[in-house]
Amino acid sequence: MTKAIVYKFGGASVKDASAIKNLHRVLLNRLQRKMVIVISAMGKTTNFLEEILRFKFVEKDYYSNCAILRKNHLAICSELFEEQNPIFSIVENLFLQLERDLEQPLNRGNYDQYYDRIVSYGEMLSTKIIHAYLCKENFFCIWQDARELIATDESFRSAKVDWSLTAKQCKKQLEEKLKKFPVITQGFMGASPAGKCTTLGREGSDFSAAIIAYSLKAKSVTIWKDVPGVLNADPKRFPDTIKFERIDYKEAAEMTYYGASVIHPKTIKPLANLKIPLNVCSFVEPEGKGTIIGTFPDERHVIPTIVVKDRQVLVTFEVTDFTFINESHMHHVYAELERLRLGVNMLQTSAISISICLNEEMFKLEQLLEEMGSYFKIKYNDGLQLITVKNYDEASKKQFLNREGVLMEQTTRSTIQVVCRP
Ligand code: ASP
Ligand code: MG
Repeated sequence: MTKAIVYKFGGASVKDASAIKNLHRVLLNRLQRKMVIVISAMGKTTNFLEEILRFKFVEKDYYSNCAILRKNHLAICSELFEEQNPIFSIVENLFLQLERDLEQPLNRGNYDQYYDRIVSYGEMLSTKIIHAYLCKENFFCIWQDARELIATDESFRSAKVDWSLTAKQCKKQLEEKLKKFPVITQGFMGASPAGKCTTLGREGSDFSAAIIAYSLKAKSVTIWKDVPGVLNADPKRFPDTIKFERIDYKEAAEMTYYGASVIHPKTIKPLANLKIPLNVCSFVEPEGKGTIIGTFPDERHVIPTIVVKDRQVLVTFEVTDFTFINESHMHHVYAELERLRLGVNMLQTSAISISICLNEEMFKLEQLLEEMGSYFKIKYNDGLQLITVKNYDEASKKQFLNREGVLMEQTTRSTIQVVCRP
C-alpha cells in the first residue's frame, strides 16, 4: 500500500501571488499518489490578526485593520483569478464571518478561546485561496477542514492533541480522499470534541504536519522554508552559516527546544516515534538537497550551533526572611509556573534568590507577580534575548560570554546560555 507524504508550506511560502504560483510549481513537479498539503496563514497574517485582537481588547478601532487584511487577500486573489471566480465571494464571506465573530464581547476570561477562533481565519483564508488556485490550474485537490482531523482538548492557544481520536479522524477523513486527489488542509488549528476551534501554539503548522503524518503512518514529511535547510544559526542574524545535511532526531529536538525557529519544537517527537523522516527544503530552490532529520545517531556536529530566542523575561524571586533558598521555595515557584503553563527556558539559583528566564506571554507575568508577590521580593526585566550555543568553541565563548548587556549566563560541558539585552 502506498504511504502518504505530507508537505507543509509556511507563511513565507504563500505570502503573495507569485509565492502561490511558485508553490504550484513545486507541487506539480512532485505530484504523487497520496499527498497531504498543510498550509499556514499567508505571510504575517497571524500577527495581523493578533493585532486586531489587541485593538479589540483595548476597545480601539480594529475595523480599519480588518479592512486592510481583507484588501490584501482580495488583491492577491485579483492577481491569481479572473474577476468572476467564486473565490472572491468566498473570501468576502470569511471576512464577514470574522467581523461578526469580533462583535462578540472579549474579556480576560474568554481571551484564549476567542483568540483561537479569530486567528484561525488566517489559515482558512489561505487554504481556500490556494485550493481554488490549484484547482483552476488543473492541479485537482480536495479542501479539508483541519477541525475534522486534529482533535484536541480545550487548552486554548496551546491545545493538547488527543492522538487516538486524531488518528481515527485522519483515517476516516483522508484515506478515501487521498486515493483520488491530494488533500489541502490548514496547519495550526484543530477542534475540541465540543466543536470549539483550538490552536496548537504559534508556528504550530509544522506540528500539524507531524500529527497528520503520525496518524497516517506517512512515508515522510517535508517542510518548505525560505532557507536551504537547517543551518547552524539564523542567517538573518549571523553571517557565514553552515547547512546540515543530516541531523539525528535527538539533536534536532534539542535545537528546537532552545528556540531554533526553523521547526516547531513539538514536531520531532511524533515523527521520531514512527521513524518518519523530516525533510527541510527550500521553496526558493526546491531542487536543492535540504536537510534530512532522521535516525542518524552517529552524526556528530562539532560546529557550534547558535539559537536566539526573543521576547524573554528574566524574573528573580528573592527570599525576604534571611533564609536560604531550599527545595520548598523551588517547589513553590515551579508549582505556580505549572499552573500558569509557563515553561522555564533557563534557571539559576543563589543563596537567596531563584532566577528564571521565561517566554513573554500576555497576562501571565502579571499573574505570576500577583500570586508570588507576597512570598518573595520579585524583580524582572522583559524584552530580553536568550542565546544558546550548542557545541561551543573558544570563539563562541569570546563572542557571547561576559559581554555588556548580559544579565545571566551559564556554561555546561556542551552548551552556553546567556540572557541579554538585544
Ligand atoms: N500561522 C500560524 C503562525 O503564524 C501558524 C504557523 O504559521 O505555523 O503562528
Ligand atoms: Mg509561520
